[in-house]
Amino acid sequence: MFIERQADCWKCGRGINVYTWPGHEMWANTCPGEGRPATVRLMHSGTAEGEYWANSCSYCGAIQGDWFLYMEPDGAFFGMEGEAEESSQGIL
Ligand SMILES: [Zn+2]
Repeated sequence: MFIERQADCWKCGRGINVYTWPGHEMWANTCPGEGRPATVRLMHSGTAEGEYWANSCSYCGAIQGDWFLYMEPDGAFFGMEGEAEESSQGIL
């Protein structure tokens, strides 16, 4: 199960689809599972100092870093980190 959002590649500027999934953790190197989009790949990141499952641009292949997608106010998934986890615990 993947959630799709629109984003602009920071490198080539083209509109692309980016994806997140329930239970996603920042810079996680655990495989997101079967049926993942081809642009979600295990990629090397200098920011994370290692490899993690990240979105990539379907045009130029540039990594769309978790920090940008989740932590920047302009990011496609800003505020969504851990959301699936919280909802499963129930909020009164
Ligand atoms: Zn690009």
